[in-house]
Amino acid sequence: MAAASRGSWSSFGVAMHMTKKSKIAVAALGALAVLAALEVAPFIRARSTPSAAPCVNNLLQIEGAKQSWALDNGRSTNDTPAWEDIRPFLKPTIKCPQGGTYILGRVGEAPKCSIGGPSHTVPQ
Ligand SMILES: [Zn+2]
Repeated sequence: MAAASRGSWSSFGVAMHMTKKSKIAVAALGALAVLAALEVAPFIRARSTPSAAPCVNNLLQIEGAKQSWALDNGRSTNDTPAWEDIRPFLKPTIKCPQGGTYILGRVGEAPKCSIGGPSHTVPQ
């Protein structure tokens, strides 16, 4: 190999060699990262998808009902509907699976569950 006997250039040769190797390593790591991302993606998606938590799903339905009520009645985002107002827009069975109480709040804000936490709060 001529490169090895080129004195100061040999380190350059080694550097090139390392670069080629690390390129392969980076490519392999990249492939692993993609695989890892694919493995993890469903979990991340599940956490942010409303259907993951029944209570969040309920809260989203309540939010939709509030919007429908506001639209149908010419209300603004500052108005607060009563349960009777939004009942017609909801399934009668809607309730927190852990027994929380729903706080409707204004049309412009997300309804809340008294239990709170990620599985009882509308994702922002
Ligand atoms: Zn809840």
